[in-house]
Amino acid sequence: MPDGTGVARTLRTARELVGAGLIAAGREAAIGKVAEKYAVAIPPALAALIGDAEDPIGRQFVPDEAELTTVAGESADPIADEALSPIKGIVHRYPDRVLLKPILACPVYCRFCFRREQVGPDGGVLGTHDLAHLYAWLKARPAIREVILTGGDPLLLSPRRLGAIVSELSQIPHIETLRVHTRVPIATPERITKALTSALSAGLPMWVVTHANHAREITEAARAAVGRMLASGIPVLGQSVLLAGVNDSEEALEALFRAMIVARIKPYYLHQLDRAPGTARFHVPIARGRALLAGLRGRIPGHALPTYIVERPGGQGKVPIALPPPWAAARSPRMKQQANQIRAGQVIEHEGRRWSVLKQQIITPGKGGAFIQVEMRDLKSGNKTNERWRTADTVERLLTDEKEFTYSYSDGANLVLMDNDTFEQTMVPVALLGDAAAFLQDNMHVTVDLVEGEPVAVHLPQTAVLEVVEADPVVRGQTAASSYKPARLSNGVKTMVPPFVETGEKIVVRTEDATYVERAKA
Ligand code: SF4
Repeated sequence: MPDGTGVARTLRTARELVGAGLIAAGREAAIGKVAEKYAVAIPPALAALIGDAEDPIGRQFVPDEAELTTVAGESADPIADEALSPIKGIVHRYPDRVLLKPILACPVYCRFCFRREQVGPDGGVLGTHDLAHLYAWLKARPAIREVILTGGDPLLLSPRRLGAIVSELSQIPHIETLRVHTRVPIATPERITKALTSALSAGLPMWVVTHANHAREITEAARAAVGRMLASGIPVLGQSVLLAGVNDSEEALEALFRAMIVARIKPYYLHQLDRAPGTARFHVPIARGRALLAGLRGRIPGHALPTYIVERPGGQGKVPIALPPPWAAARSPRMKQQANQIRAGQVIEHEGRRWSVLKQQIITPGKGGAFIQVEMRDLKSGNKTNERWRTADTVERLLTDEKEFTYSYSDGANLVLMDNDTFEQTMVPVALLGDAAAFLQDNMHVTVDLVEGEPVAVHLPQTAVLEVVEADPVVRGQTAASSYKPARLSNGVKTMVPPFVETGEKIVVRTEDATYVERAKA
């Protein structure tokens, strides 16, 4: 059990964290540097839940020196708020709704926040002039049907200011609903007063989405705050972030979602972490997230299970991450086959492991019977090995299903693919493609072989069009195919092209081995 810090006011500095026993005195200077870059605030309601800086509550809010280290793939604006902001205070990502950020301060500063470069106690409150400009912008866009107040935390505004914003938005004819994204019911539940709920509920239908990541955050006071909103006719949804060391176990997620429904909060989204600077210690791979959510299916009520969601980079918006189908674990399509029928591309089970066959060769020695030599790759570890069987031996072959996907992007280790039937996203290790990965192109259609729902191979289209970025100049009169010359393609791959192909031309090449096919048609 946490011992609690017993603090009476919000902790904001390294010195105050030392005073509350949340960091050692020897770390004060280093943590001070972190606090200069990223705001710190731990209000009493949350400080009381922290046993130490590494428990699931402390980890979320107590700053750490690791925040000053940015790793590959992290970005100051991971979901491209800036690029999608047509005017101050607005983010317009989807046609029918906008984000409105009236304030950039928060009651608590989460160490994994995707807007950490923008939020802070000095974070701008939109003034009268900005708001008037923004209302005029909204009035001129009838396609917008919902406004989501976010920030920072809009519930830090006074009931009077918030009420004025709700009232103005409610008078715009094409706006139908409002939403507020907030940490206040969890972090500072005492702010959910009658005056605040009255201000929120005085206009258009309002939904509140509260952010909580661990069951212990849903305290008696938080439940009471939610109860006050519900009593005012405001439905409350929950959103959480999957965080290493906070909630990355089936037990922690089950406790969180059960605590939410007991508090009458409907779990809405479980977010994959957006890769903001200095947040690597919270990262959980999507494959692990999928397994955790799949493990909860059937174990908790359906209305307690949120959608697992990822923001695509570059502001392309959210997409749900598909969970493995429930039958995947139970289904076991397999057959015995003779070793001499082993072919490249098959998946076989051998000594308790699954292997993808890369090459096979039947060898007939001068003496003794023929045998088959097989090069294969362990599907789990990626390690390659060579194995021999006598041709009459039997092996266990796993049958594969084929599925069509569209390539979205790669996070380095994984390809993110969109299911062409359901539009849901799935992750596939880049290693399954081998050298062919160089030929992936945005929105390319790929085929994935699945064994019991798990991807075991990815196939690209047979050919791809690429630009020649480097080739020797054309030599007059030299056209014979036998005098192919070296060339480098726009994906960095080297190949051989006929002498008439020039730098800057687009050509068709085979994705399997980069061989030249023809000049691309204009
Ligand atoms: S409350 Fe929300 S906006 Fe504020 S720091 Fe936490 S995650 Fe970021």
